[in-house]
Amino acid sequence: ASADRGGSTIFDKIIAKEIPSTIVYEDEKVLAFKDINPQAPVHVLVIPKYRDALTQLSKAEPRHSEILGNLLYAAKIVAEKEGILDGFRVVINDGPSACQSVYHLHLHVLGGRQMAWPPG
Ligand code: 5GP
Repeated sequence: ASADRGGSTIFDKIIAKEIPSTIVYEDEKVLAFKDINPQAPVHVLVIPKYRDALTQLSKAEPRHSEILGNLLYAAKIVAEKEGILDGFRVVINDGPSACQSVYHLHLHVLGGRQMAWPPG
């Protein structure tokens, strides 16, 4: 995993549909698509379409509060669409110690199996 260089990432190409993805939900602000390396039967990534220099949650500022809410609400819509409202997990990996690999803010929505706690 590379550290945050503030540049574009593979997610910009997914937003631009220059590389294909399986889209689960999309509106004017957020895009949700299936993770290419799923860690659960349902594993969807929810990302802001306009990166607005928000590479990771720890860089958020007050102006980002609306998109943060939009992302979390989209996670609920994804869980509903994927049929996992009975039990699912939303994860943000922030920084190298948390295994963040793509520096474009994203929520992981995971479900379809029993989750362990603590996550490890
Ligand atoms: P992170 O480790 O940064 O929290 O999560 C990045 C996620 O993006 C990983 O789960 C990885 O599998 C996923 N990913 C990386 N490249 C692609 C891609 O090209 N397409 C899709 N659908 N997912 C990707």
